[in-house]
Amino acid sequence: MFASNVLSRVVGIVFESAQRQLKLVLPRCILSSRRMENSNLIPPFISEIKGFLDEEEGQRLFELALEACSLGPCLEIGSFCGKSTVYLGVACKIKGKTLFSIDHHRGSEEQQPGQPYFDFELLDSKSGVIDSFPYFRAVMQKAGLDEVVVPMVSKSHVVARDWATPLGLVFIDGGHSYDMVIKDYDYWYPYLLPGGFLVFHDIFLDPAEGGQAPYEVYKVALASGEFKALPMTKTLGILQRSGPVMVEK
Ligand code: MG
Repeated sequence: MFASNVLSRVVGIVFESAQRQLKLVLPRCILSSRRMENSNLIPPFISEIKGFLDEEEGQRLFELALEACSLGPCLEIGSFCGKSTVYLGVACKIKGKTLFSIDHHRGSEEQQPGQPYFDFELLDSKSGVIDSFPYFRAVMQKAGLDEVVVPMVSKSHVVARDWATPLGLVFIDGGHSYDMVIKDYDYWYPYLLPGGFLVFHDIFLDPAEGGQAPYEVYKVALASGEFKALPMTKTLGILQRSGPVMVEK
């Protein structure tokens, strides 16, 4: 009798423990399979879009935007031809949120005629200046993001002047001089909601690998005490806002 009681108790404990393990493992499996399903929604033509975003970085942007959308809309500075916009925009579409995408579409200094990153396809033959907006617009249409992405063809500080909407994610990938990156940071971080993501592209820990301005500003943001650092993905520096919202409008 005693032996059978002990046996049934042991079987009970083993069963409960197995149940507990299953409960822990199942949500993770469901979550990762959902993530796989979702990332399959990124159109295959993304690899053909002009731009400088690595695929792994794009996938991380997509996952961050999925999470950020539970807080509010997303915003990117420096959409160029729309590669990052598609990664972020597809996540926003899944979650029924908006992506605001800022770019003057006149190209950076290095993309002007005669410069190392000049692309003849982006030159407006009538005006003789760079205009990446027609290309960007065609990409948004092809990706089915016309009703998700709001392009703002302007400079970041002009849009910021009368901005008042709290944001779940801000992606900074506009001008890469220190002056421009710090301004983009100063203009936009106050709108990030607690738990929202501040993401910088082109963070090079080794100066031999690239310009240091985004990294310098990333460090300024971290030193402010308003953010905690999350693991990087290649050159994507990711901070999560922990402080109170300070939107003063
Ligand atoms: Mg970049």
